[in-house]
This record gives sequence, structure tokens and C-alpha cells, in this order.
Amino acid sequence: MTAGRLHLTAATAVTRASADGSPAGSGAATAGAQASDPGAFDPVTFNAATFNSLLADVRAFVTGPGERYAERIERDGAVPPDLWQDLKSRGYLSLAAPTEYGGLGVPFSKYLELMEWFARSHASIRMIVHVVNGIWRAIDQLATEEQRRRFVLPVVAGDLRAAFTLTEPTAGTGADLRCSVERDGDTYYLSGEKHMITFGVNCDYWLLFARVAGTLGADGTVALMVPRDVPGVTVRSMAETMGVHGTDHAHLVFDRAPVLVANRLGAEGDGLQVALGGFLVPSRISVAMSCVGLACRAQELAVHRATQRVTFGKPLSQRQAISFALAENAADIEAARALVLHAAHEWEAGSDEAPVLSSMAKLVAVDMLTRVTDKALQAHGGLGYWSSSPIERVYRDARAQRFEEGTNEIQKTVIARDLFAHAAEMTW
Ligand SMILES: Cc1cc2nc3c(=O)[nH]c(=O)nc-3n(C[C@H](O)[C@H](O)[C@H](O)COP(=O)(O)OP(=O)(O)OC[C@H]3O[C@@H](n4cnc5c(N)ncnc54)[C@H](O)[C@@H]3O)c2cc1C
Repeated sequence: MTAGRLHLTAATAVTRASADGSPAGSGAATAGAQASDPGAFDPVTFNAATFNSLLADVRAFVTGPGERYAERIERDGAVPPDLWQDLKSRGYLSLAAPTEYGGLGVPFSKYLELMEWFARSHASIRMIVHVVNGIWRAIDQLATEEQRRRFVLPVVAGDLRAAFTLTEPTAGTGADLRCSVERDGDTYYLSGEKHMITFGVNCDYWLLFARVAGTLGADGTVALMVPRDVPGVTVRSMAETMGVHGTDHAHLVFDRAPVLVANRLGAEGDGLQVALGGFLVPSRISVAMSCVGLACRAQELAVHRATQRVTFGKPLSQRQAISFALAENAADIEAARALVLHAAHEWEAGSDEAPVLSSMAKLVAVDMLTRVTDKALQAHGGLGYWSSSPIERVYRDARAQRFEEGTNEIQKTVIARDLFAHAAEMTW
């Protein structure tokens, strides 16, 4: 990694968000942003020693208190409120945002090293850290100064919880969305349904995507910060998931719920830009690195098991069938990590290739995770199928990653579109 990349500044990150159409830019620094934390990674003070100390803290958290939280989450089926508070007080909810916003300003590719460790932890811990450290980018892109003060800075501080609210039961994810608003004066009246919304039950705002009634496609889509206590909404918990236990998910039905026009981010027609614009690429790369971290955990468990379990007089580690499977895992993980970091560096450098690379990284990393967790469980034998084995939780948590930040089918669609857009350049 080059020194230039290591020293990517928070200001660069802010500028990048603006490059997607935001009027914000680094002018946000004057918009009532909080003073930087003395230990923050601002461009002047950031150095490898400070980062290494933070990384050691994260590792100690994941392998110590994180494991105790994991036991509680699995036992109670809920994320304890003190976990949110603990993550906030350790600064883990403010890692990726720039110092001007009150974040630690950890450069993106260094943040991914932390994310790799959080992903070895319980999926709900990884989910909280990933969502809070990313959703501010979506809100920030087209926010006014007043909206930045009201929404972005409190999200970065861990004082305000926003749930990304896009998926609908009766429509495809994206331009197909059906939730709609009708405007009357300074108020929108929101009707329609959303489901599978992470933190959608216990949040302060839904960052919700809808369309102006009567419009089609991307035209007329709007991004709204909808207060959790808005009248005219029915919230149902969708708790019974295969994995990622403890994270709440919501099914929402809106019936002419009033939302102030002042809570719209950007203009009418900008909704999908907020949902899928400058936020999505780093978020996909972060999910791809989560796959790498979770695969590392599966591999550790399998290697340990293979050295302990003796059959027919020899440990499994001395059986070619098992040792080769784990050797394949090791190579698979390294290859995926290299691609994820390549995508991250391209994004940091502002490359046009970053979007397609983020899809490639997510596709490759999540397929790798599927292979690695399958072989890791196999190395455990039948006991791996029991919830008393740590690999059981890892295996079912891994499956959820296939849906986050776009399915494989969506990643392939993005990659294929880019491929054929450059078809003419491929002749020689
Ligand atoms: C644990 C979890 C947490 C989630 N959290 C959130 C959240 O916080 N906010 C949120 O908005 N959503 C959330 N989701 C929803 C998630 O984003 C969707 O599940 C995902 O985008 C796929 O959409 P769908 O479920 O509607 O699948 P469907 O649209 O029903 O698709 C079914 C299958 O068909 C494929 N497919 C669909 N359309 C096409 C097409 N045009 N071309 C090719 N293939 C296609 C899909 O890739 C998929 O494999 C969450 C899901 C899970 C599992």
C-alpha cells in the first residue's frame, strides 16, 4: 500500500461524495460540524502507529467483549441496548466519517482492515458497525447544510439511528419501487409498503425511497427522512431470520403518512441517486470485506478442528482430503481480499473503474464465502451442524451476505453492462 493511499484525507472523502452531485462538498466543515476528537485520524495526525493501536483495540473487542455479546444475542434473540452504547463509546460508530463531521476519518482502505475484524464477530455487531459507518454517506450526498446538521452529524455521533428503507414486497428493488407520495403544500403524504428493513423497528428515522404518484422509473423518485413516530404507519417486526439473529427487521405499511417536504434529500427525481449513488460503491466494497472477515473466522475454526479431531489414528489435518480443502480456502480468501482492496484503492483514487470493481469484489467475495463456509463446516463433521459448534452460526450468517448491497444477479448485471459498454475497445 502506498503512503499516498494511507494518507488519503477526510477532505478527499467529502469531495468524493460531492462528485456524485452533492452541493455539499467540504463546505460542510463550516456547517456546525463538531470539533475533531483529539485522537482522530485527521490528515495531519494520521499515522500507522495510531491505526495499529486502534486495530489492536478492535481485535481485543471482537475476541473478548464481542464474544460475550454474541452469546447474549444468540440466547435472547435481540441486540442488547448496551451494545449500541458500548460501540458508540468506543468510537466504533464514527470510524469512517471525516473529522469535519465528528468522525475519526479513518481512510477507507484502512477502515476495511477494521471491518474484516468486525466481520469475524457476531453478524449483528458487524451489521451495526457497517450500517452506521456507511449510511451517513447516502444522507450526506444531497443534504442541505440544515439537513446535514439535523441528520448527518447525529448519525455519525451515534445519537440518531437511520434505517435504509428501499425494498418492497410488491416491486423489484430500485426503479421499480411503488411506494408513493402526494404533495399538499409543505407536506408529502406517503403510502405503500416496505419490508426486510434492518433496524426498521428500533430507529429514529427511515431513510425511505418513494416516488411522486404517477411517475415511472427513476423519474420522480424521492429520498425522504421519515420520522419513526410519523402517524399513519404500521410497523411489524420480521424477527424470525435464518441468521443475523438479534438485528431487528421491519415490515412497514404507510397510509397517507405525513412527511415534511423539508425532510426530502435533493430534488424530486433524485431518490435513486441518494439510494444508489456515491454511497453504494464503498458500501459494496465494505460488504465484500465483511465476506473476507467472516470467511477468515470459518477457516480458523476449521483449521483448529482439523488439528484436534483424530480419526483412524491421525488428526484430520494429516488427511489430504481435509487439508487440501482448507488449502483451497486459504487461497480463495487471499484472492478475494486482494480484489476487495484493489476496488477500495480505485475508489479512493476516484477511478471510473470503482463501481464495476465494487460489483466484482462483492460477487467474488460472497461466492468465496459460500465455498469457504461450506468446506469449513464439512471439516467439522456432523457436530458442525449443531448450534453448540461456533461454525453453525458462521455458516447461517454467511448466507445473508448474498442479499446485502445487491444479489449476485444484480452484480452480474452491473458487470455485464460495463463489459458491453466497452466492447468496441476489446478488438485488436
Ligand atoms: C438480512 C437481510 C437484511 C436486509 N436489510 C435490508 C434493508 O435494511 N433495507 C432494504 O431496503 N432491504 C433490505 N433487505 C432486502 C434485500 O436488499 C433484498 O432481499 C435484495 O435486494 C433482493 O431483493 P428481493 O428480496 O426483493 O428479491 P427478488 O426481487 O424477489 O428477487 C429474487 C431473485 O431473483 C433475482 N432477480 C430479481 N430481479 C431480477 C432481474 N431483473 N434480473 C435478474 N435477476 C433478478 C434476485 O437477484 C434474486 O436472486 C435485506 C435482506 C436481508 C436478507
